[in-house]
Amino acid sequence: MPQILVVDDEAISRQFLTAVLRQMGMNKISEAVDGLDALMQLDAGDRAFDLIFCDLDMPRMDGVEFVRHLGERAYQGKLLITSGFDERVLDSVADLARMYALRLCGVLPKPVDPEQLLAMLAAPIAAGEALCLPMERINSEELRLGIDRGEVVPFFQPQVDVACGRVLSVEVLARWLHPQLGLLGPLQFIELAEQSGLITQMTKRLFADASQALKRLDAWKRLDMSVNLSMQSLKDSSLVASLVSIARETGLEMSRVTFEVTESGVMADPASALEIMTRLRLKGAGLAIDDFGTGFASMDRLARIPFTELKIDKGFVIDAAGNATNRSIFLGSVELGHRLGLKVVAEGVASEAEWALCREFGVSAAQGSLISPPVDEASFAEWLASCAGGGGQSARDWIFIATPT
Ligand code: C2E
Ligand code: CA
Ligand code: CA
Repeated sequence: MPQILVVDDEAISRQFLTAVLRQMGMNKISEAVDGLDALMQLDAGDRAFDLIFCDLDMPRMDGVEFVRHLGERAYQGKLLITSGFDERVLDSVADLARMYALRLCGVLPKPVDPEQLLAMLAAPIAAGEALCLPMERINSEELRLGIDRGEVVPFFQPQVDVACGRVLSVEVLARWLHPQLGLLGPLQFIELAEQSGLITQMTKRLFADASQALKRLDAWKRLDMSVNLSMQSLKDSSLVASLVSIARETGLEMSRVTFEVTESGVMADPASALEIMTRLRLKGAGLAIDDFGTGFASMDRLARIPFTELKIDKGFVIDAAGNATNRSIFLGSVELGHRLGLKVVAEGVASEAEWALCREFGVSAAQGSLISPPVDEASFAEWLASCAGGGGQSARDWIFIATPT
């Protein structure tokens, strides 16, 4: 039976929740009157809590600060926020919990509805995205060897034309097939690659491998390709020549490649970034502003870079159908992109509702788990073969591959 901690400054709220939990057969319940009380109980270590219910507005230590302390202690149990605050406040706290890689079951409005509570406890928890990385277990020498040995490989995630359903291109996303740790995602090693000066070498290798893969796939299909560029690479004046020569070796026209750069990447060394990006454009490549809306670049600076595409960050797309703030930012970004004459791509399209919004807002292309998660070359070839393309209302029925020319 789980050991539960209910953190709330209002006795009546604690009593109500405790009664609901007892009715569900959960009897090992402790109470704390605010964040500080909860933290002291946690640190005392008398009980290892499996589940914490936490209110937000409390004296001495509020729920937001408490969440940070949980993160710093790498709390492994589940967390459920209960509060009477509006959606935006609750969303921010949820984001914070995820940034600390906490196992957040959800955010429950008060008074707590027992059915909703049961559903939240039963649903699988999306793993926190951020900080619980095995980075300290990996060093740069190991990464260098991994890159040399070809363990860092391209995965592919398709982009689909929202209006007609045609598969347009693939984004190349790095994965490390680590011999001991298994499949590692980019959040677990890109930062290390950047810090240790290996990112440009890694990117070139990925670009070469992905170009070869595209050539094999292209035996029956013509797809474009998007590649992520880090800010470090945008300081390397030999980058453009290397990329052009890799493309030439595989017979890939640069006009079929788009390089994705984040706003912060542009800001790091604006002059050098501007030079390299402009030269990539001269070679025919496209340029995308990645994660649009999440960085701190000024509009003025962004406007001076010859971008061809704007990618709306998945943070605004996910749940845009049900979240008014996300929906507004999403729509505003699409309109801005169109006015600037850019191709607008939505990433993180994970539900039919989000796909329907893409259609409603006139997004050019969509990418996301509804269409396909990033997969290796073999699975991507299978996915391409499975595209039905028979019209229909759902996204999956809609998608097709252009006939070879
Ligand atoms: P990004 O460029 O924003 O890439 C999109 C991320 O969104 C990918 O995460 C992708 O798996 C994820 N995604 C796509 N659709 C969905 C969805 O429907 N739901 C959810 N929850 N997520 C979705 P991934 O592959 O983990 O990559 C994370 C980031 O790592 C990338 O974000 C990119 O910034 C960086 N990255 C990946 N490969 C490279 C690389 O070769 N070079 C550089 N510099 N950065 C890379
Ligand atoms: Ca990207
Ligand atoms: Ca993104």
